[in-house]
Amino acid sequence: MEKIYYKSTRSDKEKITSCEAIVKGIADDGGLYIPSFIPILNKPFSKLVKMDYRQLAFFVMHKFLPDFSEEELKFCIERAYDKKFDTQDIAPLVKIGDMFFLELYHGATASFKDMALSILPYLLTTSVRKTGVDKEIVILTATSGDTGKAALESFSDVEGTKIIVFYPDRGVSLVQERQMITQEGSNTFVCAIEGNFDDAQTQVKNIFADKVFGKMCAEKKYMFSSANSINVGRLIPQVAYYINSYARLLGMNEIEQGDRINIVVPTGNFGNILAAYYARAMGLPVNKLICAANENNVLYDFFNTGVYNRLRQLKLTISPSMDILISSNLERLIYDICGMDSARLKRLFADLSSTGIFSIDDKMMEKIKDFWSGFATDAQTIEAIREVYKKYNYLIDTHTAVGYYVYKQYLNETGDNTKTIIASTASPFKFPASVVKAVSDDSSFNPENVNEFELLEKLSEITEVPVPEPLRDIGTKKILHRNFCRQDEMKDFVAKVLDIY
Ligand SMILES: *Cc1c(COP(=O)(O)O)cnc(C)c1O
Repeated sequence: MEKIYYKSTRSDKEKITSCEAIVKGIADDGGLYIPSFIPILNKPFSKLVKMDYRQLAFFVMHKFLPDFSEEELKFCIERAYDKKFDTQDIAPLVKIGDMFFLELYHGATASFKDMALSILPYLLTTSVRKTGVDKEIVILTATSGDTGKAALESFSDVEGTKIIVFYPDRGVSLVQERQMITQEGSNTFVCAIEGNFDDAQTQVKNIFADKVFGKMCAEKKYMFSSANSINVGRLIPQVAYYINSYARLLGMNEIEQGDRINIVVPTGNFGNILAAYYARAMGLPVNKLICAANENNVLYDFFNTGVYNRLRQLKLTISPSMDILISSNLERLIYDICGMDSARLKRLFADLSSTGIFSIDDKMMEKIKDFWSGFATDAQTIEAIREVYKKYNYLIDTHTAVGYYVYKQYLNETGDNTKTIIASTASPFKFPASVVKAVSDDSSFNPENVNEFELLEKLSEITEVPVPEPLRDIGTKKILHRNFCRQDEMKDFVAKVLDIY
């Protein structure tokens, strides 16, 4: 069979290996790297059911990463999915009522970002060695809250790397912020920016595209890469847990081989749901991919009208990791549905950058008919947390609650009783202010008057669920990073860290 190579969404010129794509992070033409084809699951699920998480992750990832030897990839997987996770299942599937919550937050920083970021440093350092790059890798990352901490934690003190994280000032939860600014490690740098996540991500992409600056950094033996889901090294590990959850459903005798399932994903930058789409392309029997948005509902509009319009004010919601108007990974879906025609894709994204809008034709709409989308307001999100807690005594975070709410909408509108997995993307303890408000019966209690870190204890008290290890003592940890800059100063911040000018 032909071997997978990687190319940019925006041109056909460059063909590179999976290792090179992981090292570079984003293509020089501003496009995202994609595999030349999606490999097929050529094993019956009866075999996959017997595998544990690591074996299954190897089976899935090796298909996308043919340049890694079996030994190299197994090494990465074993280092990543180890005791950092508080359960041997790594990504447990929990039955609640008639639904299945795929708990992706059992890693080192209590969000689903750990699923990919605990392996990325190993994939990256292995790729650097294999491609013979002789430079120090500088990870530049924009975060809506969870990627930042997960990337800092995983790259902390990794030899041959530095990591710089930019987050929107007041655009993340207090717990998320505190997790980042208390990060240890001599190679970690954190900076709040004036602006929102889109501003941070756009500036990071601009720094990547700045050839002059890149050359100056190269002279000092630095090379940039990305820990955002624009890096295929983030995307591929995520495909594994969808395949794994199907195998677990079979193992639980909830479905029979070949039965289709729905997958609900609370969505921001479109990385997690794209991984589910790739899993489906590999042959996972999926009926609907349900894209759940908060009030920043660009994707809801897109799936329902075919028009992507980012010309609106970004709202700060209680699901901050989804406060995004420019969903980077949508570009990979568009590439697929426009017939892998890079020239056409480039025109659409040129429209987007010049006018803020692009629209797709009926033929392309036809190709996304297996997506369904809805959105939840903050009030509906709080109500969803309360409902799940009261009905099932099960605690979910604000992002997962958006997923649950949208799934209920879907059920109401369609009556579809296909077995459904809801991706549970963060521990409820990362968003204690909102979650306590939802589950507390004490009407005189106003979470706004209480220190958010004390709320962690309060939430634990009310629900009798222990505070997850990574979040214990977060309020008393020493603050190590106190940086703030405007968007136009982000490049200078990088230059200062690297001692460029
Ligand atoms: C990042 C994040 C999301 C959104 O995931 P995307 O891959 O960006 O769509 C949802 N929920 C939580 C808790 C997150 O951290």
